[in-house]
Amino acid sequence: MRPIRILALSTVAASLMAAACATTAPETPAIAPVVVAANTQQWLDDIRILSADDMQGRDTGSPGGEMARNYIIGRFEALGVEAPRVGRLQPWEATGRTRQGPKTFNGINILGVVPGTRVTDRYIVVSAHYDHVGVHDGLVFNGADDNASGVSTMLALADDLRRQAPEHSVIFVAFDGEEHGLLGAKHFVEVPPVPLASIAMNLNFDMTARAETDGKLWVTGTYQNPTFRPLLEGIPADGAVSLAFGKDTPQDTGEDNWVEASDHGPFYRAQVPFLYFGVNYHPDYHRPSDDFDKITPSVFISATQLSIAGFRALDQGLDR
Ligand SMILES: [Zn+2]
Repeated sequence: MRPIRILALSTVAASLMAAACATTAPETPAIAPVVVAANTQQWLDDIRILSADDMQGRDTGSPGGEMARNYIIGRFEALGVEAPRVGRLQPWEATGRTRQGPKTFNGINILGVVPGTRVTDRYIVVSAHYDHVGVHDGLVFNGADDNASGVSTMLALADDLRRQAPEHSVIFVAFDGEEHGLLGAKHFVEVPPVPLASIAMNLNFDMTARAETDGKLWVTGTYQNPTFRPLLEGIPADGAVSLAFGKDTPQDTGEDNWVEASDHGPFYRAQVPFLYFGVNYHPDYHRPSDDFDKITPSVFISATQLSIAGFRALDQGLDR
């Protein structure tokens, strides 16, 4: 548990300055092995920065939430992920749940688009929520695993797509308001930036950095979308992490049914095909101790590599 601390020169500000410089600096020649090493460091940096105390738990509508949003916008721009026609930001107003009862929130989803090469008019919506639950009783809920990790996995995939374009067009969306009832995702599905019928699927990342209980990156939604499963079954384990299918059948009840546990839920409700990638619960889930120093870097890197491999398999197998 951590008390609130405000850093004089925040890591965020420093990082945003670095990102701003990076967009104007001349490009350095890429050497393959070095790039790979640098990338995984960037993946970890993204979690560390988004889950630092100065982000104040990234609650919807809070200054910390805005700081996180600015960081993610900077990362999309550094990666060359353009804004879609409707714009980079998708603001919304909605009433959601809090510990004290219902409350109206003004949230902002962050959008990016990468054009496809084969199926340009069909979209894979890749999502991860950037909000978390903020500060309670003077303690910052840093949300390193939930869900700075998923945002970082999404950014890692964006980086990968920049190097090798996807076959389908891809819309990236960092959702706001997940913790208050999937508010950003509900708005996205109600007012989609492209027609809902053109969305081939939603692939949602939420918690990708710890797997101490079972060594699994769970894939939820193949019960509802069985054609996706053979596309993913051949993906071998990466390090100590392997894909597992489930948490989505009628026999999975309560906390063990994840079909509507995160932002893929509104897509499922709207009959848009979906898959959710995420790790199992752990003792720091939704506690102020969900900190960067509790994640397992090797697990996160493996889960992210499996996520990228999963995306590629889906992208290449869909609409065949
Ligand atoms: Zn989450």
